[in-house]
Amino acid sequence: MNILRIFLISFVCFNAIGQRALDTVNSKLGELVLYTDQSWELIQDDAFNGILNEDIHNVMTSAEIGGPYTLKWDANDCYSRSNDLTKLKDTVWLCLEGDSTGGFTMPIDGPVTSRYKYRNGKFHNGIDLDLVTGDTVVCAFDGVVRYAQSNSGGYGNLVIIRHYNGLETYYAHLSKLLVFSGQRVSSGEVLGLGGNTGHSFGSHLHFEVRFYDSSMNPEELIDFKKKELKKTNLLLHKTMFRPGVSPSDEWKKKPNGSSEYVAKKYYRVRSGDTLSAIAERNRTSINSLCRLNGLRTTSILQIGQNLRVK
Ligand SMILES: [Zn+2]
Repeated sequence: MNILRIFLISFVCFNAIGQRALDTVNSKLGELVLYTDQSWELIQDDAFNGILNEDIHNVMTSAEIGGPYTLKWDANDCYSRSNDLTKLKDTVWLCLEGDSTGGFTMPIDGPVTSRYKYRNGKFHNGIDLDLVTGDTVVCAFDGVVRYAQSNSGGYGNLVIIRHYNGLETYYAHLSKLLVFSGQRVSSGEVLGLGGNTGHSFGSHLHFEVRFYDSSMNPEELIDFKKKELKKTNLLLHKTMFRPGVSPSDEWKKKPNGSSEYVAKKYYRVRSGDTLSAIAERNRTSINSLCRLNGLRTTSILQIGQNLRVK
């Protein structure tokens, strides 16, 4: 955090393209620095608690609803698993349209290629939208960038926006990030360029909607055909949620019949590696490596190739 602050404070005099600071404004999120070219940067206040909608947060921390549910502001971690909204005791009313949300914009125009559902034995926590690498991906509602970096858990280059309406949206597999954590963004503002980074086969946008870290079906609120909101208000209830699970985790049946989630693990092939050496190093078998990666025992490995080992 200190390194980030020093880096940001170095912008106070000149920003990345050499513009001089013109003025500073104190905002709820920290100090805004305005530059001579009318661009701005946010020097984030360490005391900022990340709560953009205090009404919703008051509800979510009350015992009547089954709380307190927590909501961290973490620029380096996607979400915590401590909230289980499948135990919500009442309905939470959330406003999707209104002055504070800035209206809704489709993140990208492309058609849906995969929905929020179980897919090959694991749960797909978002919706996939087709795009061509380099297409601009825009923000769904007004908000503040919480996370904007490369994610090793499968999302690739990922942007997470926290919105004033209480939701968070995730934009994954981007080829380029064009925002930074702490930046205020408006509905329709460019966040990055679409791509194929992370655990992705073919360029697309993986888009998630989360409430207090728990994913929900984006189609609860968005009509992806008409490219508009389905409703003005969203009534959240426990049946809409699943326990917080990452798309890089896998649903696995245990011998006693119950199920558990197991994190996937990847290995990047280095010069001189062989399947047997990789299998031994990762305490797995050649057969298992072949099955997980669609390889044959005779397949030639490429240096830099990501192999799933678990
Ligand atoms: Zn996806």
